[in-house]
Order: sequence, then C-alpha cells, then structure tokens
Amino acid sequence: MQQVRIVVVAGDGIGPEVTREAQLVLDAVAGRHGLAIEFEEHLIGGASIDAHGTPLRDEVIERARASQAVLLGAVGGPKWDAMPVSTRPERGLLRIRKELGLFANLRPATVFPALAAASTLRPEIVGGVDLLVVRELTGGLYFGEPRGRATENGRRVARNTMVYDEDEVVRITRVAFEAARGRRKHVTHVHKANVLEVSQLWVEVVDEVAKEYPDVALAHQLVDSCAMLLVRDPARFDVIVTENLFGDILSDEAAQITGSLGMLPSASLGAGGIGLYEPVHGSAPDIAGQDVANPLAAILSAAMLLEHSLGAHAAAQQVRDAVTAVLEAGHRSADLLLPGERRESVGCRAMGELVRKRLMER
Ligand code: NAD
Repeated sequence: MQQVRIVVVAGDGIGPEVTREAQLVLDAVAGRHGLAIEFEEHLIGGASIDAHGTPLRDEVIERARASQAVLLGAVGGPKWDAMPVSTRPERGLLRIRKELGLFANLRPATVFPALAAASTLRPEIVGGVDLLVVRELTGGLYFGEPRGRATENGRRVARNTMVYDEDEVVRITRVAFEAARGRRKHVTHVHKANVLEVSQLWVEVVDEVAKEYPDVALAHQLVDSCAMLLVRDPARFDVIVTENLFGDILSDEAAQITGSLGMLPSASLGAGGIGLYEPVHGSAPDIAGQDVANPLAAILSAAMLLEHSLGAHAAAQQVRDAVTAVLEAGHRSADLLLPGERRESVGCRAMGELVRKRLMER
C-alpha cells in the first residue's frame, strides 16, 4: 500500500459540503488502487478567521508542505465582506497558492454529453469537447517589474511589464506535455509572437522542450485566433499551454463553453511537487447549508489529484467514468437543471453517494 497524506482545507459556505463528498469518493477508490489515504483537516478563509483571527495559519502551510496534495473547498462569504482586503478570507487562498509555489494552473473544460444542452453554444459544436488549459501562474504581466502609476509631463501614466525567463517557460511546457501524454497527445501553444518578444521566446523554448516528447504533436496558435476557434470549433483542442494573462482569459472562455460552474475542477502544481486541487466555483453562500450544492466539481478535482499528485491514472479515470455514468442515468443537482426542465433534483450528499455507488459496482 502506498501511504498518502492529504491536507484538506474545506473553507467556507458550500466548501465543506462538496469537499466531504470528494473525500468520500477518494476513500472509495483508494484501497482498490493500492492507496492508503490519510486526511488531515484544517481551517482556511472565514472559518479560520473566526477560530484563529487569521485566514491561514503558518502551521497549516507547514502541514501542507509536508503532504502530497491539498484538497481545497472555497472561501469567503458576506460575513467577512466588510473586513479590510488584507485580512479577508481570500488572503488565505492567495497565501497558500504563493507559499506552495504553484506555477501551473490546470483547468479542464469537458462537455459531458448528458449536459451538452447547458452550453450557450449549439450541441453539435460542443459535442466531444474535452480540453485542458495549462496556464502559467507566477510570471508575466501580473508580476513583472517595473510596474505602477505615475504622473509624467502633467499626464497620468501607468505601466506593467511582461517578462519571462526561459526556465519559467521550460517547466510549464513540461507540465503541458506530460499532461498531453495521458490524453490525446496534442499540445497547442498560444502566443502573440507577431507582436511580442516575450512570445517569440516562448515559441523558441516550447519548440526545444517539444523535442523531449516526440510522441506528442505541437501546434503554435495566435491568441486572437485561438479565442475565435474556442467558440467555433472547441473540440479540436486537447492541451493548451500559455502564459499568465492569455491563460487567465482563455481558461474562463473555455470554462464557459461547458455552461456548468458546478462541474469545473482545477489543479495547481507547485515547484516542490505539491498539488492543490479545488473546484473553480466559490463558496456559494446563497445555497450553503441546504444540501443542494453540486459536489461534482470537487469530485472531479479529486480525480485530478489522483492523476497529477498520485499518478493513479486508472483510479482517476474510474472517478470520471462514474460521474459520466451518473449524469447519463439522468441524475441532476439543482444547478444542472435546464430552465423549464421537469426532473427531480438530487442533493449534494445524494449526488456523492450516487458516484460512490457507481464506483463500487465496477
Ligand atoms: P460562486 O461561485 O460562489 O457562486 C456563483 C453562483 O453559482 C451562485 O448562484 C451559486 O449558488 C452557484 N454555484 C456555485 N457553485 C455551485 C455548486 N457547486 N453547486 C450549485 N451551485 C453553485 O461565486 P460568487 O457568488 O461570486 O462568490 C461567493 C463567495 O465565494 C464570495 O465570497 C467570493 O469571494 C467567493 N469566491 C471564492 C472562490 C474560491 O474560493 N476559489 C472563487 C470565487 C468566489
């Protein structure tokens, strides 16, 4: 048995509800795949502010560093909205991401056939969409120096700097190619090399790294045409790798294609080999405590954990297959019901149980 320690920071609102279902699903698959998982639960966000006066304690960061992976729910809520920005729940989230040196953000956008009608695009366009955006998270325009505002010659001026060194490009490119190896073996690098020197460096370095992966095909795509292709023919993409700003925009665009916030998982991978896994949605205070949240984004985040932190590819696929089967069987949480659809919705716990039942049947 492989011993695994996972730090769980469920957070606020629906965070604890959906994270619990993700933990139970991990428990359900672990044994059969030679994994003995030990969960260690800690507070983050508003819950930590209430108990300890800070959104994230140093001790939790230490425990996270000593673990193999972190499973996160969501943070925030109206109770803490009036607090100064520097002490709000979101600070806990930003801090754990920073302290773990998470430089790669992985956002899959998968259209489950049973949910194709939820997309704002036509079903024949979104059918078969299964793509992964790998976004560089710690460099580029959001962090480059010099930056700031000034008054020059009596006029207001603002500047930001897009800067990358080759090592930053190499490591994120490797993440993308490794991910592609477990998928359809195609990477699209998105850039603006016709205008930006930074992008020219990326094209050069991505080409060099690609030589280490002769089994994976590579294409370079301008960011403006990529944005168009994502709504015209999204099924053509497998893995998209790109710098921070382009990735920020394209990952949201790709997510919107699926039409279901409650279905979107994410992973962030760190330099120290630790991964952090969380649903894309927030703490949804409007539905917290009612057992109506959709736990599938959290459960699919757990599948990403199995894959990227534990190398348990078969277990990850089983979880995804179980989710697909539950949806195919017609089960829907309230957020997945289409306007006017007359179907009984299932609650958070019941949805988690349906997934686990499918897993047990295998
Ligand atoms: P949200 O994602 O929490 O909710 C948006 C809408 O989607 C709400 O109507 C909500 O009920 C619904 N929804 C979200 N997840 C759902 C799920 N799993 N099942 C069913 N319905 C779901 O975004 P928001 O309302 O803008 O923010 C609420 C709080 O969450 C704020 O405090 C915000 O700061 C925080 N937030 C946290 C994160 C994070 O922790 N990563 C991300 C976004 C927002």
